[in-house]
Amino acid sequence: VPEVLVCDVQRFSVHDGPGIRTTVFFKGCPLACRWCHNPESITFTNEPIHTAADCIRCGDCVRACQAGALRMTSTGVRIQHDRCDRCMRCTEVCPSGAWRAAAERYDVDGLIAALLRDRDFYASDGGVTLSGGEPLVHAAFLRALLPRTHALGLDVTVQTAGQFRWDDVQPLCAHIDRFHYDLKVVDPERHRALTGRDNVRILNNLRRLVAEGCEVEIRMPVVVGHNDDEDNLAQSARLLRSLGLGGITLLPHHALGQAKLDKLAHRLVPLRTPGATRGDLDRAAAAFERNGIAVHRHDSLDEHIGS
Ligand code: SF4
Ligand code: SF4
Repeated sequence: VPEVLVCDVQRFSVHDGPGIRTTVFFKGCPLACRWCHNPESITFTNEPIHTAADCIRCGDCVRACQAGALRMTSTGVRIQHDRCDRCMRCTEVCPSGAWRAAAERYDVDGLIAALLRDRDFYASDGGVTLSGGEPLVHAAFLRALLPRTHALGLDVTVQTAGQFRWDDVQPLCAHIDRFHYDLKVVDPERHRALTGRDNVRILNNLRRLVAEGCEVEIRMPVVVGHNDDEDNLAQSARLLRSLGLGGITLLPHHALGQAKLDKLAHRLVPLRTPGATRGDLDRAAAAFERNGIAVHRHDSLDEHIGS
């Protein structure tokens, strides 16, 4: 029975597709974008996450950790990530909830039940959004999930960074109402420097989805000093025009994800970039519009963005 790790099932989302939606954040992503807003969703294994403000310093977790990864210091509990074997015992014994698991395991029935809880709120245009992490690398799970959501009449948006196997995803397209497809940097070497991978497969998959007739909304996180230069914006506009796509959605990068980095085993190199302001989005929007691309934008800084 296929199962996945899910970092969050977020109810009442209004930025993740039409209407009111429930968004599922799958854990695991083949990219590691340095600005990731959900860095706890990058690794494919579960991991313990500590919130120091909730810790009452009882020491139960230190005693329970058989790997010797935890110690009590004068400033609180410290974890040595390279010793942690992800047994998750600390999250089970902690009386205050200071340790929590980054993700919960779901099978298809469990996830369907969670999605149906909110069905009354979806109304005519809402539905479910699969995000992450990268939902499209969990192909076995989606092969079991998506025919069920389709049969239930649930509208499905998939938010993807595009690094997936086409042969896995092509057969799923019939069950997906629209894709939100990340476009970050067009130049492959810059893409590699910022995300850990070049974008050859990502752009090939984008071309294939468009050729397949799928509804695709391109979304770009505006990361000041990293992808908002004239060159990248003009190249992005050209790419969209070559695909026959006339619009893009701009999302502001914010620095909130960076605060989680030192809690995680996966060490992203922090960007140390301020969040994008309205003015930064104005400038990026003007560059696209000059190049013949219509712009939608989300100025809200409190939304989840998986990219
Ligand atoms: S998950 Fe890691 S830190 Fe927590 S008890 Fe297990 S080995 Fe220790
Ligand atoms: S068990 Fe929880 S409350 Fe106790 S020391 Fe560990 S993290 Fe803090």
